[in-house]
Amino acid sequence: MDLRGQEPARRETYDVIVVGGGIAGVAAAVAAARSGADTLLIEKSVNLGGLATNGLISWYEPLCDGQGKQMIHGLAEELIRLVVQYGFDTLPEKWGGCGHNKPRNERYSTFFSPGIFSAALDEFVLENGVTLRLDTLTTYPVMDRNRCEGVVTESVNGREFFGAKAVIDATGDASVMDRAGVPTVLGKNYMTYIAHYCDVDMAKKLCEDSDFSVFRKWLNTGSDMFGNGHPKGMEMVSGGTAEEITQYMVEGKRSLLKKISGMDKNGFDIMSLPFMPQLRTIRRIVGKTDFNGVDGECFEDSIGECGDFRPNGVGKHYQIPLGALYNENFPNLLAAGRIISAPQGDGWEVARVIPVCAQTGEAAGKAAARYAREGRFS
Ligand SMILES: Cc1cc2nc3c(=O)[nH]c(=O)nc-3n(C[C@H](O)[C@H](O)[C@H](O)COP(=O)(O)OP(=O)(O)OC[C@H]3O[C@@H](n4cnc5c(N)ncnc54)[C@H](O)[C@@H]3O)c2cc1C
Repeated sequence: MDLRGQEPARRETYDVIVVGGGIAGVAAAVAAARSGADTLLIEKSVNLGGLATNGLISWYEPLCDGQGKQMIHGLAEELIRLVVQYGFDTLPEKWGGCGHNKPRNERYSTFFSPGIFSAALDEFVLENGVTLRLDTLTTYPVMDRNRCEGVVTESVNGREFFGAKAVIDATGDASVMDRAGVPTVLGKNYMTYIAHYCDVDMAKKLCEDSDFSVFRKWLNTGSDMFGNGHPKGMEMVSGGTAEEITQYMVEGKRSLLKKISGMDKNGFDIMSLPFMPQLRTIRRIVGKTDFNGVDGECFEDSIGECGDFRPNGVGKHYQIPLGALYNENFPNLLAAGRIISAPQGDGWEVARVIPVCAQTGEAAGKAAARYAREGRFS
């Protein structure tokens, strides 16, 4: 076997490297850069936003508690503003909506255009001084015992190594931390496949109301978040292997074809298929502290508070511990977004949504910048 070209080319060393440009990774990179860290953001696709854009999850869950109190500020709020800066919104006027479209509820949440949001994210990270690498897959962290020295990537440039003082895993599947040896747990998912579509009735409604938020709808051919619609007899999916993900995506498209074969083929179009698997959880880290979503629980190292998007969560307030973002045996690795140490249950349900991913991303970015400066997270 000829292994020429296996040795990575050494590139610059950064204070902070963020792997994964979903909502958590964007917030982490911007927070680190604003804290003065020389920051590199590496994303394997060509568009930022992760599930919120490439995954077509175009509903920004609320920043408020459902009783009129805003719970999340900071980058999560800047990002909901960015979501609606160039495209339509369904924000209530009370929360800064333009009043053009009908809000879906009274909470600080909105529908948005995933394409427009993704385009705006490039501008946002670059204006904040982040160095951006798209179309670049991070394959492995390089470890010196439990300390991460940097990451190896593959792209059209070939194999490269980027050094870092601190690394944030915002991959959505914890693949960096898992490969670094951090203890992790695989999740379980119902089968969900959401495409975006429009039809003649929506077009008519658009002409009547000029409300673009009604022109783009989710066509879910699988299960909702409670398992309603999960194919009978099918095991739940973790997404921890390439084979499983392939089967999941193929099955999703098969179910889509089945559903649309019963529709008038001249009366609708699929606007977009998802560009990544819509798995709510793939893998999470086992951190110093678990976030279990206990209403009113306090932590000494709290990164801030959030609410609960679920109808039965109205009025609930949760603190998230910084300890859910790292494992104490790995000094310079942090998790952000849906991979933090939140076991499946209430903590996970609360932590996995877009605004809370932005919130944990921001906290990880600040902590990593601090580590690069002072050799400690807090
Ligand atoms: C079916 C479904 C419905 C949902 N509904 C809602 C909803 O209505 N509202 C809401 O707020 N939330 C919802 N969510 C949750 C929310 O969309 C996600 O949990 C959140 O967007 C995750 O953000 P993230 O940044 O943590 O991860 P991701 O969005 O998964 O981003 C990870 C990024 O890392 C990149 N990446 C991965 N590996 C590598 C690598 N090795 N090298 C480089 N880049 C890499 C990926 O390409 C991706 O861009 C839903 C999720 C699902 C699946």
